[in-house]
Amino acid sequence: MNIPFSTFQPMHEEIKEELEEAFHEVLESSWYIRGGQCRKFEEEFAAYCGMDYAVGVGNGLDAISLILQALGIGPGDEVIVPSNTYIATALAVTLVGAAPVFVEPELASYNIDPARIEEKISARTKAILPVHLYGRVADMDPVMEIAEKHGLYVVEDAAQAHGATYRGKKAGSFGIASAFSFYPGKNLGALGDAGAVVTNQEWLKEKVKALGNYGSDYKYHNIYLGSNSRLDELQAAFLRKKLKHLDRWNKARQEIATRYLKGIRNSEVILPQSSDKVYGHVYHVFLVRCRRRGELEGYLKQHGVSTLIHYPIPIHLQKAYHMLQMCRGSLPLAEEISDTALSLPLYYGMKQEEVDYIIKMVNEFH
Ligand SMILES: *Cc1c(COP(=O)(O)O)cnc(C)c1O
Repeated sequence: MNIPFSTFQPMHEEIKEELEEAFHEVLESSWYIRGGQCRKFEEEFAAYCGMDYAVGVGNGLDAISLILQALGIGPGDEVIVPSNTYIATALAVTLVGAAPVFVEPELASYNIDPARIEEKISARTKAILPVHLYGRVADMDPVMEIAEKHGLYVVEDAAQAHGATYRGKKAGSFGIASAFSFYPGKNLGALGDAGAVVTNQEWLKEKVKALGNYGSDYKYHNIYLGSNSRLDELQAAFLRKKLKHLDRWNKARQEIATRYLKGIRNSEVILPQSSDKVYGHVYHVFLVRCRRRGELEGYLKQHGVSTLIHYPIPIHLQKAYHMLQMCRGSLPLAEEISDTALSLPLYYGMKQEEVDYIIKMVNEFH
């Protein structure tokens, strides 16, 4: 059996006509950037998140950095980020001129450990930027409490958690603003690059919108030193079609994850925490850990199963961040996850036989 790590085919096959309809609507509208499709998607996505406003932007990285810029965070400021995340989280902080300060994760959830945040807060700290990694919301109650106590903003990186919940509330509805990515492979993905900022603050919505449009709030009136990060009409139209199916697609992901969780029994393989009363996990990735990760990866490959590593090099050890001068051993938990993590295939349309085959293969690995 040959099983890819991921494929869009079953998902896009199912809604091919809707996507084609979206394409024709945009083509015929003769309006291609920030028009009616974008406005409607912003309304629909904000409502989906239980928030007042959304602003469509170019991608997830811009979504984070535009929020930070709009909050006035820049040179001399520090932002708390998890040590275990995709590099975009830290890069957004660096791009606005502020310094990322890494906090180690809880090994059980892979998300920022609230108990380790306060020791990293300094007089320069302006915000906490939790990430809902792999589709599981960070432990937001203590994060919000710490932020309130120290007068810090909370900005969520919800790029992997569209539709995930924490105590019944949607990912993206906790902080002053939240960033989403619609990179094709995310739970809600465009057919290209796209992103959004959600917030309940009208001023912040307006500022993010202007910052992503050359700092202009009114045509040819530029009030900020902005950039160009706008959502295409075409992507907005595709996203509107796909948003209608997101809950069903997330449910299918949860069913596959539940099957893995019930079926995989191997003392060498550590499974992720499942959904429970508090966490509505949407399994952007199904990540297991194994001491002999390289061997498990090769063995699965040999048996036709493609896997990925999220992520093979922790941010503080990336060449791009050499100026931090952080060596191996400085963030042991992030390093431990990088050294042992392996993500199993999980995509909408995966067949039960395929999931069962992978379960069997993992259980037979010794
Ligand atoms: C994908 C991702 C981003 C960046 O999104 P892009 O749309 O690729 O710029 C940011 N943070 C996390 C956690 C992500 O997974």
